[in-house]
Amino acid sequence: MMTTAYLSIGTNIGEREQNLQDAVKLLTAHEAISVTAISSIYETAAVGYTDQADFLNIAVALETELDAYELLAECQKIENDLGRVREFRWGPRIIDLDILLYGQQQYETEKLIIPHPRMYERAFVLVPLEEIMTQNYDMLVGVQKALHALDIEKEGVNLWKKINTVAEFVPFEN
Ligand code: AMP
Repeated sequence: MMTTAYLSIGTNIGEREQNLQDAVKLLTAHEAISVTAISSIYETAAVGYTDQADFLNIAVALETELDAYELLAECQKIENDLGRVREFRWGPRIIDLDILLYGQQQYETEKLIIPHPRMYERAFVLVPLEEIMTQNYDMLVGVQKALHALDIEKEGVNLWKKINTVAEFVPFEN
């Protein structure tokens, strides 16, 4: 069965835009995943550990035959693949892929919590997500309500590069 899922992807080390593109390319290369929308790229100062470089964040919409656990495994594989490439030079975590939503389904297990437990508190997750959720009215309302409560934080999420289409972001190879 096809399910629509939304991911949040972030990076703050190395060639940040390239890291995002590499992650999306690996998603599109998977035979059971088709990436249907990509948000613009937003830049946000780090929260939590503030003594680190600014993040770039995007949201991605995809359709997949994978179940939620298989999708999680794929996200972790992509994190490992991209992390490993630059491990020596940049340290282990250059890219973070989180599953925000998987259809209307809810999970609360040791490995997987969906909707993502912190998404409704994070403007840097919600601002890009809102941009690509136009087709999904039921969920959009929840995102917009949460964003409304985060008016101040929203100001820290700055448009870094406008992205209009998936093809523009990851030009098709072959
Ligand atoms: P992090 O290091 O912040 O990327 O967290 C990764 C851990 O979060 C992994 O052990 C996952 O099993 C767990 N996790 C729980 N829910 C999710 C989710 N919705 N998306 C991604 N990872 C999740």
